Amino acid sequence: CGITGYIGERNAYPIVINGLKRLEYRGYDSAGIMMYDGSEMNLSKTKGKVSDLEVITNNDESRKKGKIGIGHTRWATHGVPNNVNSHPHFSQSGNLVIVHNGIIENYDTIRKELISRGYEFQSDTDTEVLVNLIEEVKRKEGCKLGKAVQLALTNVIGAYAIAVFDKTKPNELVVARLGSPIAIGVGENNEEFFVASDASPFIEFTKDAVYLEDGELAIIKKGRGIRVRKIDNDKPVDAKIQELKLNLDQ
Ligand code: GLU
Repeated sequence: CGITGYIGERNAYPIVINGLKRLEYRGYDSAGIMMYDGSEMNLSKTKGKVSDLEVITNNDESRKKGKIGIGHTRWATHGVPNNVNSHPHFSQSGNLVIVHNGIIENYDTIRKELISRGYEFQSDTDTEVLVNLIEEVKRKEGCKLGKAVQLALTNVIGAYAIAVFDKTKPNELVVARLGSPIAIGVGENNEEFFVASDASPFIEFTKDAVYLEDGELAIIKKGRGIRVRKIDNDKPVDAKIQELKLNLDQ
């Protein structure tokens, strides 16, 4: 299973799709991609291989449009492998989108609570519960996306690597990890950023990478930079940039 993402000025599609292919070795049963074209989020996802996903996107060029994209390969834990359960998942309002590797163990309790507040679910996944919890926290607290993700994660028991995008704030991506890896590739002058489960999807574009530690969250802002903080105590963390060594075996 794996995560890829891009925010910058290039066409995100080939970066995200080729990145998913480099992560295929991790194993998966479904694949999906969200492309943001500047006004709408286009979702393409399917049970099967990344090559099956490409059949869908190749049939409709509008699915490939945009300079922001996130992709996912799924290894199902909650809900059978099928098209609906594949990631990315939208929140109820359609403003937020998430990809997630890992397991939310207390998803059922959170799901019931959200249902009692009027939320409806399309899939059987724990992931769709998490994106709606983030939406509910954001609505209730009136806070920014980064804070809402942080607060939501403090209510979660489990393991995760996530990437979250909010189409009402399209200059940023929020990522977080606990028990599953996330690497962030930093482009020149902070003009573009790459997100992936390991550095192989972006090593051809940048040698500068920030690896999140367990329990950390990063707010990535195009043109501005990365802010890393601890999920459980708000403490800012120095985003240490490491230089990647080219390893052709990767
Ligand atoms: N628990 C999530 C699901 O079943 C994510 C699985 C994964 O790591 O790909 O959809």
